[in-house]
Amino acid sequence: MSYRALYRVFRPQTFAEVRGQDHISTTLKNAILTDRLAHAYLFCGPRGTGKTSSAKILAKAVNCLNLQNGEPCNQCESCKAINAESFMDVMEIDAASNRGIDEIRELRDKVRFAPSQGKRKVYIIDEVHMLTNEAFNALLKTLEEPPAHVLFILATTDPQKIPLTVLSRCQRFDFRKINTVEIRNHLADIVKEEGVAISDEALNAIARKAAGGMRDAISVLDQCIAFAGEHIELSPVELVLGTVSEESTALLLDAVVAQDYSKMFSLLHDFVQQGKDIKQIMRDCVQYCRQLLLLKVAPREQLVELPQNCMEHAQEQVKNLPVEFLGRMINRLAEAEKDLRYSNQPQIILEAALVDIMLQGTEPVVSQPAVQQSAAKPSGAQRKTSQEAQAAQPVRKLIASEELLQQWTEVMAQIRGKSVKLHAFLAEAKPAAFQNGELILRFPHQYKFHYNTVSQEDNLRLIGQVVGQLTGAPAKVIAELENEAGHIKQELTLEQEVRKMFGDVPIEIL
Ligand SMILES: [Zn+2]
Repeated sequence: MSYRALYRVFRPQTFAEVRGQDHISTTLKNAILTDRLAHAYLFCGPRGTGKTSSAKILAKAVNCLNLQNGEPCNQCESCKAINAESFMDVMEIDAASNRGIDEIRELRDKVRFAPSQGKRKVYIIDEVHMLTNEAFNALLKTLEEPPAHVLFILATTDPQKIPLTVLSRCQRFDFRKINTVEIRNHLADIVKEEGVAISDEALNAIARKAAGGMRDAISVLDQCIAFAGEHIELSPVELVLGTVSEESTALLLDAVVAQDYSKMFSLLHDFVQQGKDIKQIMRDCVQYCRQLLLLKVAPREQLVELPQNCMEHAQEQVKNLPVEFLGRMINRLAEAEKDLRYSNQPQIILEAALVDIMLQGTEPVVSQPAVQQSAAKPSGAQRKTSQEAQAAQPVRKLIASEELLQQWTEVMAQIRGKSVKLHAFLAEAKPAAFQNGELILRFPHQYKFHYNTVSQEDNLRLIGQVVGQLTGAPAKVIAELENEAGHIKQELTLEQEVRKMFGDVPIEIL
């Protein structure tokens, strides 16, 4: 007997079998029973949440010869043919595979003909957002005047990419992520039927990792069975998933909180030796911190999804960790994950992020009143124009000179000696220019908080002193915050522009 993937074997055949989307199944069944089906449906939602399965069930229901209370019978000729994918009036188009131009053209030519085998022609267009503009236009023509015997079911993970003209002609259903308990229960049914023994921890780990997608969960279970046979414990599951267990993540967090650098590095080293992916380690850390956060702020809401064996440790950790720290850790790691895209040294990015977090410690990083004030009104040293600027103005790239970069490492080292906190905030800044005793520090837009803190007069003065000592001349420090596009919001005044070019010479602007 040939092997069939579990998710195919256990694909839902009726609306009742679709998990976690009752709001959609009920509406569709009612529409079928009362003969009020629309001509076009749009099924939106994350991958593996039942969009294509529901589309097929709907295709069967409108063609079934023996409808059972709005459900397809799965016994009649039509149902069987559709299940076998040999029914001529149900057409599946995968827009992702070739962007659908030929299929949509053919659709447009043939859509007028009456169904040849069943009651209704059904076009299921998967990943419809991938269609080309040309294909969308062709589709739109048929959607504008759909023949009575045609039903369109468009499915997409990305509804924002679908033209409004198409959206407005569809009845839209949003498929939800399926909750972990529901996924777990479904997996439990499957292993029972397959005669596989699996530990609760292992099952929970798969369900949690699937993050709302049933198909992914079943595929992982399939891999675990292939890998570990019919008795499955947690460790092979972790190997298949490539995840770091919550227990290990908890240890890493302990090291970070204790500012135990050697422990942190050695744990990371171990994870990598075990073949874990850095991105996955980051995600597992973020996920774990999120669980701690939930445990701290909403312990009674039953939102926490931690394995039982980690609960005690987690509760202990939560007692001593401020919400602010957990939030900071999540943000910093999420930031680091983004940075991975631009780096081929992922481990260093993760290490640097953790070191950053460790340098700041677990205490709230600022004394609130001072910073709130500075966030509300710019300090004197900040450029006045930055608040007045109307439009974001791209500025020429200021390349920091090699000399300045060398000096900068030294500046940072000296600042760390004077204030570890200021050093940590300053770590997000780039020295952008150093001319005529004026040092410009730029912060990426997401570091507004860092920018505000560094912009406090005391801090700017301290940096200026350090720079001044190194260069042997007084230095003025200016902090700038980039906007999202990486530009500086302010425009320089004409005088500043001229000074930039000619330095500190007497000028007269006419
Ligand atoms: Zn049937």
